[in-house]
Amino acid sequence: MAKTVLEVRNLVTTFRIDKKEYEVIRDISFDIHENETVCMVGESGCGKSVTTLCIMDLLPGNGRVISGSIKLNGQELTTLPRRERSALRGKQMGMIFQEPMTALNPLLTIGRQMTEGLMLHQGMTKKQAYDTAIEYLEKVGIANPKDRMRQFPFQLSGGLRQRIMIAMVMAVQPSLLIADEPTTALDVTIQKQVLVLMNKLKTDVSTGVLFITHDLGVVAEIADRVVILYAGCKVEEGDIAEIFANPLHPYTVGLMKAVPDVDAEEFDIQPIPGVFPNITEDIGGCRFHPRCPYATDLCRAQRPEEIEFSPGHTVSCHHVKEALK
Ligand code: SF4
Repeated sequence: MAKTVLEVRNLVTTFRIDKKEYEVIRDISFDIHENETVCMVGESGCGKSVTTLCIMDLLPGNGRVISGSIKLNGQELTTLPRRERSALRGKQMGMIFQEPMTALNPLLTIGRQMTEGLMLHQGMTKKQAYDTAIEYLEKVGIANPKDRMRQFPFQLSGGLRQRIMIAMVMAVQPSLLIADEPTTALDVTIQKQVLVLMNKLKTDVSTGVLFITHDLGVVAEIADRVVILYAGCKVEEGDIAEIFANPLHPYTVGLMKAVPDVDAEEFDIQPIPGVFPNITEDIGGCRFHPRCPYATDLCRAQRPEEIEFSPGHTVSCHHVKEALK
């Protein structure tokens, strides 16, 4: 069994809005192992990005972790002093954002940004850091890396900036890489290259990857396991093959049906009826019940427990057996 890199248990997070606390993450648990990509999937506002911010300790001022545990390589993060926690960022944990300009400093050359990180986090000399930066720029398929090292971020295309961001994060060889929609802003061809690249670097460095996306095509391409979130709750988790072949939760089934089948003769997309709940909406029981065709009084009254349907495949639904009929 591969080593567990990240262990999240019963995480509960709230946001304070107009002097009231609202739960945005409701009792979420999952693990990520070495050399494993876990894709976290769900609609905007489901809690994917907030989960990553909890792990990275980057919640906005009105957000806080109320309870639960986040362990990185066995070390509890939620009780760690802020300074020690921030030291782990960039060293043991790396993050790639949708828009690399949010993470790259526009005033510094690529070379300066790459080498400073390596000297700070890896204790390298300037020469070692320079050579490593060149090595990783080559690994991500960047031609003329020495020239790129002298350039500023604004002189590069979006695809190049994203590759540089990946090289910068992976050069530090983090145990955990969090990628929040890293390919959404890229052309389809560049997107494919970036996914292949991330997969290769993950294997080279044995990193555990938490990949946030709403795109099931990307999930099929890169995931080992999938965690499905709905309105702050984990509703299903399983191996990629199992989730695609045998989705159990009505929301997961709805997501699958909402993807167009390019091979079908007729374009047949079936959107999930109803609207995604607002963070401030007080929905009791199962959060999906207003949109679920199988909802009963039990669903409206009581939140479903997580059950293990088959080894490694869990689901939170009162009527999963009926929903499968
Ligand atoms: Fe639907 Fe009820 Fe299952 Fe929720 S618990 S997904 S409402 S059947």
